[in-house]
Amino acid sequence: NKFENLGLAPHLLDAINDMGFTTPSEVQSQAIPLLLSQETDLVALAQTGTGKTAAFGFPLIQKIQDTSKQTQGLILSPTRELCLQITNELKNYAKYLPKLNVVAIYGGASITDQARQIERGAQIVVATPGRMKDMIGRKMVDISSIDYCVLDEADEMLNMGFYEDIKDILKHTPEQKKTWLFSATMPKEVATIAKEFMQTPKEITV
Ligand code: AMP
Repeated sequence: NKFENLGLAPHLLDAINDMGFTTPSEVQSQAIPLLLSQETDLVALAQTGTGKTAAFGFPLIQKIQDTSKQTQGLILSPTRELCLQITNELKNYAKYLPKLNVVAIYGGASITDQARQIERGAQIVVATPGRMKDMIGRKMVDISSIDYCVLDEADEMLNMGFYEDIKDILKHTPEQKKTWLFSATMPKEVATIAKEFMQTPKEITV
């Protein structure tokens, strides 16, 4: 059970080493090799604090083409705090990919500032659903050719009433993208999302 055996690129192993992570967590051991080796939808049942950000973050960063400035990955998360936390984590993971830009999009801050950051080229966007929907409507962000969509803390997002926003956002993404859903619990609303928007997802429970 070593990071070296999960299929991760050398630059990510260097960043992992710099962060002082020594052993992959359970969700990382299960998700990382799967997501790196297969283009698949995924439903992962994992609580916060289990290392799930890296479980989706490492594979996502490895799959992004940093030679293009196109938005390729979208992460939806329930709150501004979580959005910023995920963004900071991803920036640490990608420290040896200087051309990779990760931008946070959330309510309660200047939309024009956020639009300007997106305009400079954000291969990965980390967003709360409300602000994301708003920016799509104003054509400030283009997610029409993303390859990966992560729904983080899906149960929390649905608890907070974001079902319609998520549905609307997903309508603007391409059919062939892969969706990785992370949730602490699996209430029927989350199962509904999985059924409606995912294709025979692989399942992981930690
Ligand atoms: P998360 O569940 O993604 O919010 O991660 C919880 C915390 O654990 C974060 O501060 C991570 O930086 C840290 N972390 C994630 N994976 C590992 C690991 N394999 N070893 C040590 N710390 C980790």
